Amino acid sequence: MSSPTLILRPGREKPILQQHPWVYSGAIERVAGDPEPGEIVTLVTSRGEFAARGYWNPRSMLQARLLTWRDEPINEAWWSAAFARAIAARRPWLDAGLPCRLVHAESDFLPGLVVDVYPDTASGERWAVLQALTLGIEARKDELAAILLRDLGAAGVYDRSDVDIRKKEGLGPQKGLLAGRAAPENRVQVRESAGFALTVDLLKGHKTGHYLDQQANHALLRDLIIQRGPEQRLLNLFSYTGSFGLAALAGGAAHITNVDSSQGALDLAEASRANNGYNAASVASFTADAFQFLRAAEESGDRWDVIICDPPKFAHTHGQVERAARGYKDLNLRCFRLIEPGGLIMTFSCSGAITRDLFHKIVFGALVDSGRQAQIVRELSAGDDHPVALTFPEGEYLKGLLLRVY
Ligand code: SAH
Repeated sequence: MSSPTLILRPGREKPILQQHPWVYSGAIERVAGDPEPGEIVTLVTSRGEFAARGYWNPRSMLQARLLTWRDEPINEAWWSAAFARAIAARRPWLDAGLPCRLVHAESDFLPGLVVDVYPDTASGERWAVLQALTLGIEARKDELAAILLRDLGAAGVYDRSDVDIRKKEGLGPQKGLLAGRAAPENRVQVRESAGFALTVDLLKGHKTGHYLDQQANHALLRDLIIQRGPEQRLLNLFSYTGSFGLAALAGGAAHITNVDSSQGALDLAEASRANNGYNAASVASFTADAFQFLRAAEESGDRWDVIICDPPKFAHTHGQVERAARGYKDLNLRCFRLIEPGGLIMTFSCSGAITRDLFHKIVFGALVDSGRQAQIVRELSAGDDHPVALTFPEGEYLKGLLLRVY
């Protein structure tokens, strides 16, 4: 291969040879040839043996991200084969007309690239939404969108590369239509596996439009509500557009309380409530800070049978872990105080910097302070369309606990 070459530093080769996809600048002895930022480079060991191939960004702390450990060209056929593998793994969702994550970046062996798929139940067409998190992906996103359009049979491919993390790669935010046709008003009507319909705004919604990582937990909640029988009252903290609430209503819950700081998100939740045909009297919405809401609820003596606590990322860096831990502890303590004996709490953290072990310890601390008793019924994580590569434990960001509380 004639691509430019990165020669690895002796003693720094092991993680790379063990298929970790990140190459820190300190692992590179020297650069041979004259690669352009974003270009494909070949990595060789200090003894000159082929190690891996990936893309280069001299401006990032992660100077290369690896795409293959085989000596093969990275061309259109390579990307098409990579998408075919991702599509085959998501057949159950695609065939059932369910939205899903198609490409989960490093965890799908395609660093820096996220692709979500939203099938529109109204038209039967599907739209893809792409996120380029790195320069290497940004540089070829038009090519990737064209391949996706063809291989996925999508009506259109949107760009939602409007995320802060791109700053670390020297990139600003970008969004819009990349290939194919726009969806009417840039919105699709999807149906989640829990059985409720949801309008997703592909340009204005969070992430790529929706929190697809919680789809399986939405369905689990519906099943738990069915098991527990009617008369269940749910508190849905950090509700966003109301998915956990809609799932609970699909399971026959008697009443839902959605709490979110965003009025726009709650407006969409209300539209979906009506669209799914659920009674207006079965849903209460509070545009409020969740911490303040919980304090007020404690004072007024409100109690719930099931509580969902799915806050935004509190720790964006390792330096923020301690402060985030205090936030999670306070939140969980307040949830313990508001749950009926025998009730269920689903509590989450989507901070990558908070490990599952630490999250357990935080929730344990909150429980002890509350004076209640609790059992772990189930460990929770993102759905099966968000796998974690065994060689990339950093990919596990969403962790949660289903607790029964006495
Ligand atoms: N549970 C949702 C996703 C939640 S995302 C789902 O399954 O789809 C986190 C939400 O928390 C966002 O909608 C954001 O508006 C909201 N939020 C952020 N800070 C908040 C705060 N202090 N109080 C209440 N809501 C907050």
